[in-house]
Amino acid sequence: MRILTGIQPSGKLHIGNYFGAMKPAIELQEQGDAYIFIANYHAMTTVQDPASLRTMTTDVALDFLACGLDPEKTALYRQSDMPEVHELAWLLSTICPMGLLERCHSYKDKTAKGIAAMHGLFAYPVLMAADILAVQSNVVPVGKDQKQHVEVTRDLAIRFNNAFGEVFTVPEPFIRENVAVVPGIDGQKMSKSYDNTIEIFMEGKPLKKRVMKVVTDSKELEDPKDPETCNVFALCKLLSTEEEQAALAERYRAGGMGYGHAKTELLEKINEHFAPMREKRRVLVENMDYVEGVLKKGAEKASVLARETLQKARQAVGLE
Ligand code: ATP
Ligand code: MG
Repeated sequence: MRILTGIQPSGKLHIGNYFGAMKPAIELQEQGDAYIFIANYHAMTTVQDPASLRTMTTDVALDFLACGLDPEKTALYRQSDMPEVHELAWLLSTICPMGLLERCHSYKDKTAKGIAAMHGLFAYPVLMAADILAVQSNVVPVGKDQKQHVEVTRDLAIRFNNAFGEVFTVPEPFIRENVAVVPGIDGQKMSKSYDNTIEIFMEGKPLKKRVMKVVTDSKELEDPKDPETCNVFALCKLLSTEEEQAALAERYRAGGMGYGHAKTELLEKINEHFAPMREKRRVLVENMDYVEGVLKKGAEKASVLARETLQKARQAVGLE
């Protein structure tokens, strides 16, 4: 089984990224041939500052290594170290109906939030298809927001294979339903580019401030509360055992527990869960040569697959 996932270096990674994509991908590295890439070409659709793009790219590498990615098991690489994906994206573009992209929610959501409606943002799912198909991945661990993009990938792979012969493996998305969409502090999907995140590596006062900002309804302390509609509860759930979830839900329903209490509990859970990863990250920052080495080795491994796929695809369409 080959597994691939990617994350954009478009801002600091947050607990939505962690539970939606990083944790499942890191766990799957035990079960197959795993690839994780830092999608810096994709990030250019929202990041136009070269220095930030560079820093955020290495930050994603640090974050993954700190969160448990084992470079002996997973090839971690920068998307830009595998330019073959662009040629592949062009081949896929030529068979990609406009309607397929016009239906994509992510483009509509981002432009509705004021992100410029550039061609790159619109064509993003085609490049993403190329990322996935280049390594012939079978499984793609993603959050629910990316399900549609993986469906576009499947559609393009099938169209291509039907038109030119079997070149691509048709991948399956791997989505954990219980963490499908992690809410941000405003209750919408937590997103780097929406300024509504709780960052994995934020600590101390800034973290506390963020957690205290999570929106809730305005029920009084003594009122019974509904855990199912509460963003604080949704976030606590991710960091709790089933028994802890049931106990907290009980306290919500009984009344007498304010949202402030629930937020304090959430803050403690975040600190507890991420403490060892923060420690590991502090060590890694002092070893940037090691991190660079990991990225280089990862790119070499993934590029072997990409070159092989591209060669097959070029031959299939008549470029060779
Ligand atoms: P951007 O705002 O730049 O799109 P993002 O926060 O949405 O950033 P991506 O890099 O687009 O992050 O996505 C990386 C991975 O994290 C994807 O697999 C995506 O499905 C997952 N993911 C992102 N946000 C969430 C979320 N709120 N809940 C669950 N998974 C998420
Ligand atoms: Mg996104």
